[in-house]
Amino acid sequence: MITDRQQLRTYECDGLAHYKVVPALVAFPHTAQECAAVVRACVDARVPFVARGSGTGLSGGALPHADGVLIVTSQMRTIREIAPQDERAVVEPGVINLQVTRAATPAGYYYAPDPSSQQICSIGGNVAENSGGAHCLKYGFTTNHVVGAQIVAPDGSLVRLGGRAPDAPGYDLLGAFVGSEGTLGVATEVTLRLTRLPESVRTLLAAFESTDQAGAATSAIIAAGVVPAAVEMMDALAIEAAEAAVSCGYPPGAGAVLIVELDGPAAEVDAQFDDVERLCRDSGAFEIRIAADDAERALFWKGRKSAFAAVGRISPDYIVQDGVIPRTALPEVLRRIGALSAEHGVRVANVFHAGDGNLHPLVLFDDAVEGQADRAETVSGAIIDLCIEYGGSITGEHGVGMDKAKYMPRMFTDDDLDTMQLVRCAFDPAGLANPGKIFPTPRLCGEVPGRHRGAHPLQEAGVAEVF
Ligand SMILES: Cc1cc2nc3c(=O)[nH]c(=O)nc-3n(C[C@H](O)[C@H](O)[C@H](O)COP(=O)(O)OP(=O)(O)OC[C@H]3O[C@@H](n4cnc5c(N)ncnc54)[C@H](O)[C@@H]3O)c2cc1C
Repeated sequence: MITDRQQLRTYECDGLAHYKVVPALVAFPHTAQECAAVVRACVDARVPFVARGSGTGLSGGALPHADGVLIVTSQMRTIREIAPQDERAVVEPGVINLQVTRAATPAGYYYAPDPSSQQICSIGGNVAENSGGAHCLKYGFTTNHVVGAQIVAPDGSLVRLGGRAPDAPGYDLLGAFVGSEGTLGVATEVTLRLTRLPESVRTLLAAFESTDQAGAATSAIIAAGVVPAAVEMMDALAIEAAEAAVSCGYPPGAGAVLIVELDGPAAEVDAQFDDVERLCRDSGAFEIRIAADDAERALFWKGRKSAFAAVGRISPDYIVQDGVIPRTALPEVLRRIGALSAEHGVRVANVFHAGDGNLHPLVLFDDAVEGQADRAETVSGAIIDLCIEYGGSITGEHGVGMDKAKYMPRMFTDDDLDTMQLVRCAFDPAGLANPGKIFPTPRLCGEVPGRHRGAHPLQEAGVAEVF
């Protein structure tokens, strides 16, 4: 445990560093039983607790509670089992995403969900955020790769959800847990689905004059019935940042680049690869590079995977936004983001999973210049409104956490939110698991959603708000 005030400050934020709260205590359980004991102690003392994996979350999900215990899983990093015959891996929650693939590769398997943070983020964090990655277009998000979990429920009991075999009978409680952002308990063991390494992988980098052309190429590829393992786009500003940071050597003068990767049986990949190349040219690609070997493929990906951090080279501060739109709306939404950027005098770099319409606009600002942070916040919020307007979502993969709770009522009705609260209350009637996240205001479980619409005594006292 950490109790020293200075040391506690190490854990005051996650990857979204502008929210900071120093926790009252940090605990590092080594086992599920220790983790359960920590939660039970919290329950006995009616103290809130927040789970934390590697702290790379970008929505403030692992932001501590000032009067609460932060439960860090970094001492739970054992890969218990790699079972290629069952296509399963059993891991502790602190295990780093990429380590699962490293452990499974000698047997001819890998773990498909690949967030760009995969070298450092934990499986427990991935499960809680239902994380995605470049290759989730073809293979699905974390939820498609988690078949079972042991969790410490918010009352401190150890519970198993799902199992090793697919389709456990009864309600899909595992489905509810995945993506619940630490509000339904703490995962202490996760059973993952492993995927067979593909026979062939081929990657191309296509340069276009505009994001319109690159967006059109993306739609054309999918419309042709090809489902690439990944289709990633970067615009001119994102390319400039990546060049400054990692010298990835993308074609000069490109207004947008697409990275398209196909994998699967060699004959299928070869046939589809020709189609993809032709469709990119038809959509206006002025240069196409095909990775000759693993080293060149890694160079293509280096620019993309380093893009978030690379933006630090061209701007002292930036907001990483995360939203979803229907893929076909890409060109129009990107144009409107450009218009917002011009209107507010705030630069926006775009780097995103184009194949599934998951945008990551990076809104650049300088906190030292008065008013810039506010303008960046305005543009960032307006982009989320655009996503909703086009029938998309306020988050694709980074979660709601602390940061986006305020946007939930823009996307969901009161009844929707009440129903979600009923699920949360069923797991956590005392409201101790990661309180204050996901939902705009804390609702107490004593209040039955949808019934007590009148003022609550705590609301009247200004302590809580009923929505
Ligand atoms: C450079 C960079 C690139 C990124 N790229 C991607 C990307 O491509 N795709 C993507 O989806 N995300 C991405 N992210 C976001 C982040 O890495 C993911 O959300 C990741 O899953 C968080 O894992 P973590 O271990 O850091 O979790 P944390 O940040 O520690 O926690 C995240 C949430 O999970 C909860 N949690 C953690 N462990 C547990 C547990 N054992 N049981 C229950 N709840 C738990 C926390 O309470 C919190 O709500 C990126 C982040 C960075 C910094």
